[in-house]
Amino acid sequence: MPPKQRRIALMGYRSVGKSSLTIQYVENQFVDSYDPTIENTFQKVIKIRGQEYSLQLVDTAGQDEYSVLPQSYFTNIDGYVLVYSVNSSKSLDVIKYVYDKILDMKGMTQVPVILVGNKSDLRMEREISFDDGKKIAESWKAPFLEASAKENQSVQDVFTQILMTVEKSENVGQEK
Ligand code: GDP
Ligand code: MG
Repeated sequence: MPPKQRRIALMGYRSVGKSSLTIQYVENQFVDSYDPTIENTFQKVIKIRGQEYSLQLVDTAGQDEYSVLPQSYFTNIDGYVLVYSVNSSKSLDVIKYVYDKILDMKGMTQVPVILVGNKSDLRMEREISFDDGKKIAESWKAPFLEASAKENQSVQDVFTQILMTVEKSENVGQEK
């Protein structure tokens, strides 16, 4: 089987750790100060359950509740990693806004997304409980994970799960 090409965008408020999650996943390192204004596409080839994927990760420069999202975030994107950080209520508000925008732009009621609460290592600064995040993801019928790019917790899972979610959405309506 040839590799499947999949393009995934990471979105969310500034400074939630979109770049850190991406770089931890692709390069196995935690970079403490990555230029927040850079938008970059990263590549990684992985194998899940015998299937090779050539993965493109679009690490966006970040959104807020006033952002007009460019068309490039919708064409050719197969799925979205929607990131907030557990120490920022604001970042959770922003990600709900971004989710609504994506549905609007796609004109669909369901789009492959995963909700990720990053910076789970910041125990003392936590503003959002695990359950708060989980409830929102449930209302979207989407998977949910807390992760730490810094401690490399659940980072692999984020990308495996979004790929599996994309895969499922492609199989809807098809015979097994
Ligand atoms: P982006 O703007 O969403 O791409 O966020 P960055 O990846 O640039 O991260 C913003 C800041 O948060 C940087 O100082 C990172 O080192 C820090 N950061 C990112 N992920 C984590 C994490 O999991 N835990 C902690 N404690 N800090 C993090
Ligand atoms: Mg960034």
